[in-house]
Amino acid sequence: MERLNLGPVSFSHIAYGMWRLGDDRDTSPAHVQAKIEACLAQGLTTLDQADIYGGYTAEALLGGCLRAAPHLRDKVEIVTKCGIIAPVGRHAAAQVKHYDTTAPHIIQSVETSLKEMATGHVDLLLIHRPDPLMDHAETGAALDALVASGKVRAVGVSNFMPHDFTLLQSAMRERLVTNQIELSLVHHLPFTNGELAFLQERAITPMAWSPLGGGRLFGSENAGVTESLGRLAKANDVAPSSVAVAWLLAHPARIMPVIGTNRIERIRQIGEALKVRLGRQDWFELYTAALGREVA
Ligand code: NAP
Repeated sequence: MERLNLGPVSFSHIAYGMWRLGDDRDTSPAHVQAKIEACLAQGLTTLDQADIYGGYTAEALLGGCLRAAPHLRDKVEIVTKCGIIAPVGRHAAAQVKHYDTTAPHIIQSVETSLKEMATGHVDLLLIHRPDPLMDHAETGAALDALVASGKVRAVGVSNFMPHDFTLLQSAMRERLVTNQIELSLVHHLPFTNGELAFLQERAITPMAWSPLGGGRLFGSENAGVTESLGRLAKANDVAPSSVAVAWLLAHPARIMPVIGTNRIERIRQIGEALKVRLGRQDWFELYTAALGREVA
């Protein structure tokens, strides 16, 4: 699979997201390993985590697998996130769900993530959500210090608007190498509201979360889109989900989709999206169906 360089680290063009890891019937280390090996068989080496996934349990599921099969650690890149405190698990005592981008919290969160995932470093750390109380100088210095310590190889953000991004970047030595945003045929506003243009202008790789709308793409409310996906899937001899991912890959900003299926048979097909070549009119056919009207 093609690689993308984000700062000093190389990632696979498509990442595998572990948000739903704990929702699977089988969460054993062996089954997590089977999923990772299905990813690796296609050259998909980038795993996307967050401290909060599974109510602060998903990182430990990956850690259980890496303890049982430590040789896998050098074959993958681990992305994780911090900054959301929900009143569950280790933060059960929190009074209210909130964000914390203070230096002590970020640093403590990374230490915990390293322990949970049985690793000495994280390849990419993201601030999960923009925090209205973020002190950009403090947050930026904490991220710089984590890179300097070697515990984190690169840093970025998630769900930031361009103004949040430039605010944090203005106080940092290190480059923020990505903004992980929601992007799909069911959430396409970033194509026109400046979020993608901002990243494209700066040659910053966008990561796209929920590229299938978390499965909603295949719901009856999106019948028009699924019809077009079906036609293009047949023409390209792939699954409709591969065409939906190819729709993101076709964008010149070189988007990295983060796919979240728990099913091994679907994981085995993820790489097929890279084989699909959508023409301009195919792209607009899907966009038209997603908009529910032709472009002006
Ligand atoms: P997704 O790939 O859009 O959706 C996956 C879901 O769709 C699964 O529940 C899957 O069910 C279902 N699905 C239904 N039909 C499918 C098909 N034909 N092919 C594949 N899946 C199908 O992504 P996601 O899980 O919502 O999110 C992906 C990753 O993005 C997460 O794991 C996480 O790493 C990241 N994320 C980040 C943020 C953020 O704020 N930064 C927010 C949300 C997610 P099955 O499991 O049964 O296949």
